[in-house]
Amino acid sequence: MALPLRLSKRLRSARTWIALGVLAPIGMLVVSGLMLLDLRRDAWDKAKQTSENLLQVIEHDISRNIEIIDLTLQAVVDNLKAPGVAEASPELRQLILFDRAASARDLGVMLVLDENGDVIVDSSAWPPRKLNNADRDYFQAHKARRDLGLVMSGPLVSRLTGARIVVLSRRIDKPDGTFGGIVLGSLKLSYFIRLFDQIGLGPDDAINLYLRDGTRLIRYPYEEADIGANIAGSPTFDRFASERSGAFVAVSVRDDVERHYAFTHVGDWPLILNVALATDTIESAWRNKALVISGIVLALCGLTIFLSLLYGRDLRRRAALQAELAELSCTDVLTGLPNRRRFEEVAERVWATARRTHKPFALLVVDADHFKRYNDHYGHSVGDEVLKGLAKSLRASVHRPDDLVARVGGEEFVILLPETDTDGALRIADKLHESVASLAVPSAGIGAGEVTVSVGVAVGPATTASPQDLFERADAALYAAKEGGRNQTRCAPGGPEDTGAMLALRSLHV
Ligand code: GH3
Ligand code: MG
Ligand code: MG
Repeated sequence: MALPLRLSKRLRSARTWIALGVLAPIGMLVVSGLMLLDLRRDAWDKAKQTSENLLQVIEHDISRNIEIIDLTLQAVVDNLKAPGVAEASPELRQLILFDRAASARDLGVMLVLDENGDVIVDSSAWPPRKLNNADRDYFQAHKARRDLGLVMSGPLVSRLTGARIVVLSRRIDKPDGTFGGIVLGSLKLSYFIRLFDQIGLGPDDAINLYLRDGTRLIRYPYEEADIGANIAGSPTFDRFASERSGAFVAVSVRDDVERHYAFTHVGDWPLILNVALATDTIESAWRNKALVISGIVLALCGLTIFLSLLYGRDLRRRAALQAELAELSCTDVLTGLPNRRRFEEVAERVWATARRTHKPFALLVVDADHFKRYNDHYGHSVGDEVLKGLAKSLRASVHRPDDLVARVGGEEFVILLPETDTDGALRIADKLHESVASLAVPSAGIGAGEVTVSVGVAVGPATTASPQDLFERADAALYAAKEGGRNQTRCAPGGPEDTGAMLALRSLHV
């Protein structure tokens, strides 16, 4: 079969449409699923890139500011060693030691403390404000060790201003190398708050700045309680501390929110910074999009399934209707028997099979005797009743499923018997005569025995060239039966077991 023909046949099949109705939605679901996964990956890529950029910007800003303070502190330490500075008047010494950097907005105070912790130089007041910071950890640390370099304190409350600060300090050595005090600069925590606020993250996102020992200096969004908390030992902090920079997803020890953490150590300072975006926030825009797309795809899938099923059902109905019409076109309306068309179809098939298998098959042509008289005497409708009765008698005479009884004309019937020889056919003819003999139409006053039929029998396929040929031989035998006085069966010569006799009277029912 040519491809277009096969295709058009497939498209007319209900099964094809039902299969399409299932496969098309599966295809749509797979494609949209892959697309949604791709969109989700995009959302994550974007979030990772954003975290990375923010981290770089913030780290750079903090690093730069600390560097400026440290340079100032180092300058103070160096300048204190310069000849003449120690001998200069206290006012002059203050001017020499602190440049403009000391007045930067986020810088709290810059102080020089002597070996007892007392303020001896104050960047923003003359005379220096009275303060002793000997008890501070950073002071004790510098006093105990020479080589600490820059020390960053934890978050503190300034004793001078009351502001929250972090203190950066360096040791001052006396000429003999012994402890001579410290120089310190304080950085206001408000600097970090302002910096982080500028970023404008969502309410579930966070930025954290820790000291290397796990102490939180500041967190965005700002909450007083977060300052100073120590998360050393937690799995997230262990990763922050063990790698210089990186990214991972984890659940926060602080509030149990899952976040994507991008972290880095801030320059060479003892600080760790992270930008933590809530996974919910990262995926929320994608999730909304996914919901809309899934909704549309599901609706389209539903519609496709519905329309395919509908069309499939329509095709099935049409096929059933066609089958019914085909059946009707092969059925006789009055008796419900197959009609001449069906008989001819079946006869062709049976004849072809018999030719192949060399098995005989028989054809009986049955004609009601003097049927015209019933019509004339009782009327057409009684004639119809008799025909229906005859149809029943014929049907009752055969039993095999392949035997065919058909009405081929007004009061003319055929019985087609596959794999049946002459004897078998004559036995059926005898049964038929018996059955017809008991036919009666009491309502019209037709009693049993009044209706008779004549039967012509022909057996093939030995000498038959076609089913039509067989029919003509059976019809000739029927004519002989009529001629012979009706209500009898005549067998056509030429059957497989024929001995050459002329039309033989085989059966007579009087
Ligand atoms: P014969 O014994 O020689 O066959 O005589 P006959 O009267 O049966 O044969 P004929 O061919 O002369 O008449 C057949 C009649 O059958 C003619 C027609 O009125 C009647 N007939 C044909 N079809 C129908 C039908 O469907 N219903 C009725 N009621 N009568 C029919
Ligand atoms: Mg007739
Ligand atoms: Mg007749």
